[in-house]
Amino acid sequence: MPEGKIVKALAGFYYVLADDGSITQCRGRGVFRKNKITPLVGDIVKFQAENAQEGYVLEVLDRKNELTRPPIANIDQAILVFSAVEPDFSTALLDRFLTLIESKHITPVICITKMDLLTDDRKVKEYASYYENIGYTVLMTSNKDPEGVATIYPYLADKVSVIAGQSGVGKSSLLNVLRPDLDLKTAEISMHLGRGKHTTRHVELIEVEKGYVADTPGFSSLEFLELEVEDVKDCFLEFVRLSEGCKFRGCTHLKEPKCAVKEAVENGEIALYRYEHYMNFVEEITNRKPRY
Ligand code: GDP
Ligand code: ZN
Repeated sequence: MPEGKIVKALAGFYYVLADDGSITQCRGRGVFRKNKITPLVGDIVKFQAENAQEGYVLEVLDRKNELTRPPIANIDQAILVFSAVEPDFSTALLDRFLTLIESKHITPVICITKMDLLTDDRKVKEYASYYENIGYTVLMTSNKDPEGVATIYPYLADKVSVIAGQSGVGKSSLLNVLRPDLDLKTAEISMHLGRGKHTTRHVELIEVEKGYVADTPGFSSLEFLELEVEDVKDCFLEFVRLSEGCKFRGCTHLKEPKCAVKEAVENGEIALYRYEHYMNFVEEITNRKPRY
């Protein structure tokens, strides 16, 4: 039975892209309702073609992850868009996004936009090199400079990416540089309209440089609803690396003695703001109201 990837879901149809590049417009076959699985954009499915254009989705293969807002499965990568200014670059917000993204086992790529608006870029570059040193890819771009934006292409190949970032940082502008033939502002507006009860939200994976990018920004909720306290330390990559030196296995780097992470904060190897954000997130999750 042929397999394919759902690249678009609209009005009860799933558009399934097969390896040969063909797209089949499929309906679900009822089995999903029984198993309470709703096929999502990004799902790898088995399908049966009725003819060259139409068919049925018969089975949804196991997902490696999924997002609810927007609904999309099997995300490889998040392009995390932050502007250098307007709004100002915020490490607190960046660490929050990174924690959410790492906890879903999605690879972040940090893209700092609006570099053209900076008169002094030293501070932003200093932050960029800190995040690079702990293992992240950091790109610095401006929508005035298509060549700068083009540095993102190699990271998109063969992956499903979702663009994330707060409002006004330049997510739509970035998508418009990547795919000038589409008007991506419209995508965001239709998503808001889609919040109504009777309309289906439309998410589409669009092809960019041999990869796929969701046309609707991801991670619209920045709350740590699905995270437990002990998950947070694993989302700070430099803590994970240093934790081998902690006296206690499973050290949370909070109150334990002989903690390599706290020592690294004291000697400046770990930025104090990173450790402070870690403590803030732990506190926030600890104080979170029970969900029921
Ligand atoms: P979104 O809300 O994240 O989708 O942000 P938009 O793409 O709508 O951009 C918000 C504003 O910032 C718009 O007025 C854009 O023209 C502007 N903008 C986006 N990227 C850049 C950039 O690299 N440089 C400059 N100078 N302005 C930008
Ligand atoms: Zn420790």
